[in-house]
Amino acid sequence: MTGRFANIIVDISHEKVDRPFQYRIPEALMGQLEVGMAVMIPFGLGNKRIKGYVMEITDRAEYDEHKLKAVDSIVKDGVSAQSDSMKLAWWIRENYGSTMIAALKTVLPVKKKLKQVVRKTIVCKVDTETAAARAEEFAQKHQNAKARLMQELARQPALPQPLVTGKLNVTGQTIQALEKAELIEVQAEGTYRNVLPENIAVLNSWQKKQLSESQQAIVDSILHDFRADVRRTYLIHGVTGSGKTEVYMELIEQMMVEGRQAIMLIPEIALTYQTLMRFYRRFGDRVSVMNSRLSAGERSDQYERAARGDIDIMIGPRSALFTPFERLGLVIIDEEHENSYKSESMPKYHAREVAGELCRMKNASLVLGSATPSVESYYRAKKGELKLFTLKERLAGGQLPRVYVEDLRSELKSGNRSIFSRRLYGLINDRLKRGEQTILFINRRGYAGFVSCRACGHVMKCPHCDVSLSEHTDRYRNESRLVCHYCGYNTPGVTNCPVCGSKYILGFRAGTQQIEELLHREFPAARVLRMDADTTKSKDSYEQILSQFAHEEADILVGTQMIVKGHDFAKVTLVGILAADMSLHAGDYRAGERTFQLLTQAAGRAGRSTLPGEVVIQTYQPEHYAVVHAANQDYEHFFAEEIAYRDLMMYPPVAHMMAVLVLADNEKAGAMQAQALAEQVRRQFDDKRLVMIGPTEACIGKINDIYRYIFYIKHREYQVLTAVKDVLEQTIHAMQWNTDSVQFDFDPMNQY
Ligand code: ADP
Ligand code: ZN
Ligand code: ZN
Repeated sequence: MTGRFANIIVDISHEKVDRPFQYRIPEALMGQLEVGMAVMIPFGLGNKRIKGYVMEITDRAEYDEHKLKAVDSIVKDGVSAQSDSMKLAWWIRENYGSTMIAALKTVLPVKKKLKQVVRKTIVCKVDTETAAARAEEFAQKHQNAKARLMQELARQPALPQPLVTGKLNVTGQTIQALEKAELIEVQAEGTYRNVLPENIAVLNSWQKKQLSESQQAIVDSILHDFRADVRRTYLIHGVTGSGKTEVYMELIEQMMVEGRQAIMLIPEIALTYQTLMRFYRRFGDRVSVMNSRLSAGERSDQYERAARGDIDIMIGPRSALFTPFERLGLVIIDEEHENSYKSESMPKYHAREVAGELCRMKNASLVLGSATPSVESYYRAKKGELKLFTLKERLAGGQLPRVYVEDLRSELKSGNRSIFSRRLYGLINDRLKRGEQTILFINRRGYAGFVSCRACGHVMKCPHCDVSLSEHTDRYRNESRLVCHYCGYNTPGVTNCPVCGSKYILGFRAGTQQIEELLHREFPAARVLRMDADTTKSKDSYEQILSQFAHEEADILVGTQMIVKGHDFAKVTLVGILAADMSLHAGDYRAGERTFQLLTQAAGRAGRSTLPGEVVIQTYQPEHYAVVHAANQDYEHFFAEEIAYRDLMMYPPVAHMMAVLVLADNEKAGAMQAQALAEQVRRQFDDKRLVMIGPTEACIGKINDIYRYIFYIKHREYQVLTAVKDVLEQTIHAMQWNTDSVQFDFDPMNQY
């Protein structure tokens, strides 16, 4: 790389990440520096020599050239994980458009010097049989928390306390009681925060499963490539329960044999206690986990342990990708189609793409897995860019459920105005009689959706955010409130239309709370649990609800998207999808894909064990291809129709799309900036294949009093879009606009 100046960020373990400082590159080092390289530089008043990382090499001096200090030397001890992080940050910055600082903050954990913490472990004081027997006794006395803990201790004699109070949902009081009864002991030691039990490997509570032929074939193929020094991206398409996780674990184990490390991404919501325990049991303290509930200290400790080579496996959501493994050999992305892999804040990167770059840098393999692969990945597999594997059968028994599609239009015609079709009503009743469980799914939260006047059409909206307010009812105080889901603005519910005075102003569409109430009325004996954004606000409430349901403390679980993710409930034999249409009419190009995924995954919740399952999909559009193919669990045909539509409309992945979002606290200025940027693109890109949409006020025109303008650019070549982004960045720089005022989003997953 050539250039006379280097912008250098000082080693973050000494100084907080702030901004790069510019240094002169001395004659002797000219041409030798590279982005990401560690260098020694004079810093501060005393010109103390400290370590820094080269962020950028440029010919543009930011100050008087003669006043710049010179880079001292290159740090010779090889490529550090940190400089890899720098390179990755640079790549993210180049490809998604953001400031370097924002990109750096994405890839680096904030690192502060932290005191050691005391880690508590719950240790079983009785033998396995006694523990199991006591668990049984507690269960009979309906002391469920005690039963749960003793049962787990019977399998695993030492458990970290946070795991017990968190994922296992056992209170401090219960722990104290069991301690008094001399069944358990709480041990404490000072250590790096390890989020796992340490002595688990010794316990060997894991038995190797003989992989099926098709599982083994996948493992063999990937390892064969790896050992032949071939690096590729692989896609495993397999229904839930087809044994993907077992394949991942075998691959990880073989990677460890090769002396390499692995990162496995799982959407946070699917990162359940059961899943984690499977990994702990097999890999013991070589595994660590990252999640949003860890404290800053816990996070930085996990990174530290990874950097020191104390662990070989990191499991976690998107951010776990930035674990600084020196010997990374494998990245796995489970449920690769999940939206949560795309960052919603700047830089708006997609973990799948960044993982691709990371694997290139580290000479590692990338494995994607899903029951409903993203249209992007499947498209690439069809083109031969990814190697595709398919797992067809469920392994732990259980057949695919029987699916009914119920037409809500004909329900209405025959006089049924209930949220439940007659079939669903009948099947719920049937399950209650048989003592089996039901999951009811709706992709919307709150008491009801938006509130509109049936007389004049007026819709109640948030004065700050320009989105519809949702009606929520406080069941205990029996009052209704209208709430904004963006900024939290809320106001009492209305009984008359504020515009025309009509009293026919009503909540629209059903929400989880409304369904819960209806269930109480229709099936008074049924025990109902509700899981949505409202009931899962507090720490661990998500796990608590799932664990209550898993322990059959309820007959029916009502919830939003969050209940459809990989949980195994043996007693669930009925899944009802109350209104498939809500996601069908989300108004963006991914609506069909998202609906197909949701329906398929929700359907996959039924009949996970030996009991046969049934699924009811209720919809006003039973003929929609996403509904039809989801009902048949037919990915191939869904994909064929979806990709034809994407191609016709020039949507990703066939073409590419970049959203340019302009933010301004002044309405007119925002509109003018968006116009100016769009004009700039028109002037500089005389390309008939470039399509521009807008600029216009964004769908949500204002959030927190910031005005939002949007335009979209489509082109079949991704590189053209990054070139457009570069031009716009230069324009923003030349106009001296605030860099935060314009955001780029490549192949956007969200609406603006
Ligand atoms: P997925 O990740 O595709 O949902 P899992 O790997 O979790 O699938 O497997 C589903 C169930 O089948 C699990 O209970 C797992 O223990 C079991 N299973 C997986 N592979 C095998 C195998 N080769 N032999 C026996 N049981 C298996
Ligand atoms: Zn009105
Ligand atoms: Zn608002």
